[in-house]
Amino acid sequence: KEFRNNVKPNWCPGCGDFSIQAAIQRAAANSGLEPEQLAVISGIGCSGRISGYIHAYGFHGIHGRSLPIAQGVKLANRDLTVIATGGDGDGFAIGMGHTIHAIRRNVNITYIVMDNQIYGLTKGQTSPRSAEGFVTKSTPQGSVETTLSPLELALSAGATFVAQSFSSDIKQLTALVEEAIKHEGFSFINVFSPCVTFNKINTYEWFKDNIVPLDSIPDYDPSNRIAAMTTLMETNGMVTGLIYQDKNKKSYENLVPGFREEPLVQQEPLLSREQFDNLVAEFK
Ligand code: SF4
Repeated sequence: KEFRNNVKPNWCPGCGDFSIQAAIQRAAANSGLEPEQLAVISGIGCSGRISGYIHAYGFHGIHGRSLPIAQGVKLANRDLTVIATGGDGDGFAIGMGHTIHAIRRNVNITYIVMDNQIYGLTKGQTSPRSAEGFVTKSTPQGSVETTLSPLELALSAGATFVAQSFSSDIKQLTALVEEAIKHEGFSFINVFSPCVTFNKINTYEWFKDNIVPLDSIPDYDPSNRIAAMTTLMETNGMVTGLIYQDKNKKSYENLVPGFREEPLVQQEPLLSREQFDNLVAEFK
């Protein structure tokens, strides 16, 4: 199964996003998917280009809106595996309203955030994930805003699958994407993805020095939500691995009464043409 196409990514050499693309392609292949069974939906930003670099259905949406589109695709065709992608600016600034409600809605899709802690496409401004004191063109005297903790927020919103990885650890990331695809419900994976061009603070070396692998925490239990929250707070959000999973909660599609299994295009219309025209006439 081949998820590579002939489009050459125009990310900067060394950008973390290359490995995330490779991990998605490997995870899809390892999951036994065919390209026509996968849809990759992206927002705007350097990360947004990824939907054009994977041989599958793809939709490069508008800023912060990958999740509404991805949920719509999934609800229209439950047979598709749907992966939404975006950057930290896309998902945690303009798209935050969608992110929180997608998490609590728990539609069966995977959301991968390429977290480089800066706006790369627009040449380096402070993002919600930038550290306090971070100096950029938009904060020349250093950011005074508190850094967003997306995984704590996700847990608070009722997430059923929360993971974090590092683009350099392609083996771990691939395994997490495979688990996310298998998970019934909304799977959220935040991936540290260094922007080598504009972020000179959060570099590959910085992440290697600061990441706390979950494997290093004895007897960690990813089904324990309180332990997950505590671990995130104790590691300042730098923990990597499968942080939390609730295997019992059903996805949105499986909870909504009468929500049908077959894709929308295979279903009989609920109304005849005449009934539809009459309904429209009532609103005129
Ligand atoms: Fe990657 Fe940064 Fe270059 Fe964008 S600007 S492609 S995020 S390295």
